[in-house]
Amino acid sequence: MKFVGAHVSASGGVENAPLNAMKIGAKAFALFTKNQRQWVAKPLTEKSITAFKENLEKSGILPKHVLPHDSYLINLGHPEAEKLEKSREAFIDELRRCAQLGLDKLNFHPGSHLVKIPKRDPNYEEKLMEAELHCLDVIAESMNLAIEATSDLDVKLVIENTAGQGSNLGYRFEHLAHLIDKVEDKRRVGVCLDTCHTFTSGYDLRTKEAYDETMDAFGRIVGFEYLMGMHINDSKPPLGSRVDRHHSLGMGEIGWDAFRFIMNDPRMDDIPLVLETIDEQIWAQEIRALYDLVEA
Ligand SMILES: [Zn+2]
Ligand SMILES: [Zn+2]
Repeated sequence: MKFVGAHVSASGGVENAPLNAMKIGAKAFALFTKNQRQWVAKPLTEKSITAFKENLEKSGILPKHVLPHDSYLINLGHPEAEKLEKSREAFIDELRRCAQLGLDKLNFHPGSHLVKIPKRDPNYEEKLMEAELHCLDVIAESMNLAIEATSDLDVKLVIENTAGQGSNLGYRFEHLAHLIDKVEDKRRVGVCLDTCHTFTSGYDLRTKEAYDETMDAFGRIVGFEYLMGMHINDSKPPLGSRVDRHHSLGMGEIGWDAFRFIMNDPRMDDIPLVLETIDEQIWAQEIRALYDLVEA
């Protein structure tokens, strides 16, 4: 069975997110547990936490089908010590907020190395590879530290694959595998595949053959036991463009077929499938359209 929803607003308080999910007929949702563009957030109040749990219950959505997303400011692979420290602290705080809300996952973008290597450098490829590998190790260390600091909690660190824009890592399945490999407590780690990011990072999804090839590669390199959520987005930029611009379903370069394959793939059962498409006015329609793709 599929659990589809969207990344809904938590403005006015996290307790509003389940209500917003209900309004669009969602069976899953994502939210920010704090303002995603600010470093410091006030702790969640007891009142807000209780209201969130009550509203979640009212919505009929299970905690395991909620996929909180961390702040865009956090870079767990930051090359500067001070900023890395700030990111790590903020990330640990976010894990705690998830646990307070009774949620068991936190979705995050791995991080960026921010190294600028001139393209004319004769050793460009080599230096880039070195910067990427080093950054992946820093991210893995951040994850281990976060897991250790929250050893009393059961919140999984769910790594999202990226489009590979700028110096963002996580655009190859090998990057995800590298991180998982270096995380000591593998019970605390998972992966979220974003269809737009998958596509623009160079993995095709548009035909059954291409979809099977991409998913087989994911299964072989990462493993479906780690797949704990998906972001369901069409893409404005073309295959392999390494640019992250979402589009409404069927209106971008990916097209409906890919979403039909997903909705009929049992490997995506029982995990949150979350829209991050650009027109929230049609989320309810998009959710219904996805369920209509399910073949009897
Ligand atoms: Zn995403
Ligand atoms: Zn994106």
